[in-house]
Amino acid sequence: MMQNAHIFKIQRYSIHDGPGIRTTLFFQGCPLRCPWCHNPESQKMPGKIRAEEMDGLVSGLISEIEKDRIFYDDSGGGATFSGGEPLSRPDLLFRLLDQCREGEIHTCVDTSGCADAKFLSGLAEKADLILYDIKLMDAKAHETLIGKPVFPVLDNLRRLSDQKANVWMRFPFIPGMTDTKANIKAVMCFLEKDTVFRKIHILPFHKAGEGKYEALKFKNPMKEIKPPSPERVAEVKAEFESRGFQVIIGG
Ligand code: SF4
Repeated sequence: MMQNAHIFKIQRYSIHDGPGIRTTLFFQGCPLRCPWCHNPESQKMPGKIRAEEMDGLVSGLISEIEKDRIFYDDSGGGATFSGGEPLSRPDLLFRLLDQCREGEIHTCVDTSGCADAKFLSGLAEKADLILYDIKLMDAKAHETLIGKPVFPVLDNLRRLSDQKANVWMRFPFIPGMTDTKANIKAVMCFLEKDTVFRKIHILPFHKAGEGKYEALKFKNPMKEIKPPSPERVAEVKAEFESRGFQVIIGG
């Protein structure tokens, strides 16, 4: 079993979705609409998982993850659950996390944080590592550009910090959108003041997803936007580092 209605892609030998070599499962469905999304095909929510479907779905996906175990053991890798938004299917996500833990497979969850707060303690307990996006701090800009309020995203991050979850921040670095002086300052201040998280990946915008928009006949809102220059990325990296953050460029 590879793709299905709930997992739109399984990517093997990934080195950008957490430590080591990983198998990444991409969940179908996301409540957000980031204009820079590289997986626009993942946004549409699928139907509910029927109760009688769940056991077969979980065991099929765990078999796929198990196939690459030798690479995890050699590299310190494991399974990553990405999307879309994996917390849009907490029942499936939590079953997979539990089974991986039983099988001693390291897990990462890559989340936008846009999820019901009641699922956050389960996430903190069950995932070995959480990759958490921080995008735009301004409430109006977040809602206008991304389509949902920023407050739940920030509140959920505070919760994970209180629960001492293992979190690496991810900052999509988008010229003219997330790359503004005010936004970068607000991101640093928020992380310093409200969380214990000091490791951040800066993810510079690139054009790799462009072909998908054409193939799917979706309007590409980023058509005219150019990737940031290496100099600008280095400048922002230095800015974060000067405040004591550990910075990695890329995934
Ligand atoms: S959160 Fe991720 S999957 Fe969802 S729209 Fe934004 S970039 Fe795409």
